Amino acid sequence: MQINNEMKLEFLSKSSNESFARVAVAAFASQMDPTIEELADIKTAVSEAVTNSIIHGYENEIGYVNIHCRIIQDIIEIVIEDNGKGIEDVVLARQPLYTTHPEMERSGMGFTVMETFMDSIEVESEMGKGTKVRMTKRINNITE
Ligand code: ATP
Ligand code: MG
Repeated sequence: MQINNEMKLEFLSKSSNESFARVAVAAFASQMDPTIEELADIKTAVSEAVTNSIIHGYENEIGYVNIHCRIIQDIIEIVIEDNGKGIEDVVLARQPLYTTHPEMERSGMGFTVMETFMDSIEVESEMGKGTKVRMTKRINNITE
């Protein structure tokens, strides 16, 4: 497999880092010549995954969120990982409108948004160990 480019980020689970993560991934992806819309899709998906790690993974604690991005030809792969509390039932968590925090005015649409804006998403999680979300998107820069 040919990897054209790769980057890793590690930052603390503070909400002030949500926009940092979104912008950093978008800046890395911009070398693929994405459309404004594709870039917005990537930012939205990254934002949802990072927010989940901060809010649900680490709750009120502080830990590290890791992002690993690879560009493999015209595909960008983004892996967002935390070492937080983990998800008990991933299939249930991915259902639209499912949230464990309705009192926090969460709508339970984060995973649905990631699925909508990316081409693929895989979630691996273990209770007490953490959660890993792997997403890919093909960037269709058709050159005339
Ligand atoms: P919204 O994203 O719409 O604000 P939400 O975060 O509750 O609401 P999803 O992002 O779809 O909705 O996540 C669904 C549920 O999965 C969460 O309520 C939470 O219980 C669990 N979850 C998601 N990501 C993580 C994570 N990184 N660590 C632990 N639990 C998670
Ligand atoms: Mg969410």
